[in-house]
Amino acid sequence: MYKYLFGPVPSRRLGMSLGVDLVPKKVCSLDCVYCEVGKTTKLTVERKEYIPYDKVAEELMHYFKNSPNPDYITFSGAGEPTLNSRIGDVLQFIKQNEPNIPVAVLTNGTLFYDKKVRRELKDADIVLPSLDAATEATFQKINQPALQLTSEKQIQGLVDFRKEFTGKIWLEIFILPEYNYNDNELLKLKKTIDKIKPDSIQLNTLDRPGTVMNLHSATIAELKRIINFWNLNNVEIIAAAPQRKSIQSYRNDAETAILETISRRPCTTDDLKEILGMHINEINKYLDVLEAENKIRPVRQERGIFYQKKDN
Ligand code: SF4
Repeated sequence: MYKYLFGPVPSRRLGMSLGVDLVPKKVCSLDCVYCEVGKTTKLTVERKEYIPYDKVAEELMHYFKNSPNPDYITFSGAGEPTLNSRIGDVLQFIKQNEPNIPVAVLTNGTLFYDKKVRRELKDADIVLPSLDAATEATFQKINQPALQLTSEKQIQGLVDFRKEFTGKIWLEIFILPEYNYNDNELLKLKKTIDKIKPDSIQLNTLDRPGTVMNLHSATIAELKRIINFWNLNNVEIIAAAPQRKSIQSYRNDAETAILETISRRPCTTDDLKEILGMHINEINKYLDVLEAENKIRPVRQERGIFYQKKDN
């Protein structure tokens, strides 16, 4: 049983993706209202070795020796991976030992103002930064950043990263109708996209409850309107949980275990993590599908969001 590796998880974009956790839950430079992992408990831009390099390298080496190669190794986890000051060393460790496995980095991109962070990611194959706002007011509202961050700083970091990085950049934009769906924000986002020049833009929206009450997801029609409004040919919609089931690494046994546990009593994602020993990101992938299929429903209570089985 690994402590810092999880999955491989079924990912529509990255196939069978082995996750690497480089920070504990939930160390992040943002506290996004839509975060599926829960509220940020340590809001910071301080970089340090939150999870020791040696421990991650040891687990990776064990995995390489004992398991088939995944389609990707992905730095993701339950917080912002670039906050780990050894991320570059972990990346180099993978490239030295398994140069044929591509590495992806899921990041909020807020630390890209730091040249060192940009340099440390230079050997990644794909970087998937997020950008949900192009104005300061919306950035503050939707992403609730650490004090040192501004929207301008985030955007400039992404522009600089694009100039230096030779791999692929897939920019993810999370759309929430009450926050960033108005024409003014969309227009500014479009101008920002033109400056960043990502290889592709991926529109996402809420599958399940965020950290604040009464958030609504965008409809597919709304996401399609954005694509027309921007008139770009490299935008795609990735908010489609049920399609995840067709991915080879989708584990029906994991889905059944989650559903059976929830049938016994309603659980939070943390409860499921404790009971099933699965990583929170992995659990989230299956909950997305179960909710989209109308088999479970979330109920917000004092201790957090509980998932309960629906009697259809
Ligand atoms: S950046 Fe990612 S992990 Fe951090 S709060 Fe936002 S969604 Fe959650």
